[in-house]
Amino acid sequence: MAITDKIYVKNHQQLASQLETSFPKGAFSGATLDILFQGEGLVKLDDATRDRVLDFAEDFMDCECQGAPHCGCPERKFVAYLLELREQGMGPDAIVDVMTDDYMLYAYPGDILSFLDDSVRTLEAVETLADVEGENEVADETRNRRQRLL
Ligand SMILES: [Zn+2]
Repeated sequence: MAITDKIYVKNHQQLASQLETSFPKGAFSGATLDILFQGEGLVKLDDATRDRVLDFAEDFMDCECQGAPHCGCPERKFVAYLLELREQGMGPDAIVDVMTDDYMLYAYPGDILSFLDDSVRTLEAVETLADVEGENEVADETRNRRQRLL
């Protein structure tokens, strides 16, 4: 399961009742993207919630793909956001706090930790392959990237 399948909407019940409809708890479930982040119910949300919902839509759903928001861009951008927070030196707990502050989302720190470990392992594999292939530039770039995540 991708990390974006483990990102949840905080105060989910409360938001559903403000919107007078139900949607899944997973932030990246197709129906959540449609109903919460792209829906017409925004006016029904309280100010603090609306600001964060709009921020999310602006930051992760601003592509112009035909299938948007079901094109994979929101997920890709969110993964980049998580890695960026890590590169700023944050641990799993801090990353969860920041995503809650920024977008009213949460995840379990253990899931974030596994995601970060997996990312490092993936970069390691790329690095090894690039070394074997003599792609020094790719290897260096990947090594730098990986070290920023540690
Ligand atoms: Zn897209």
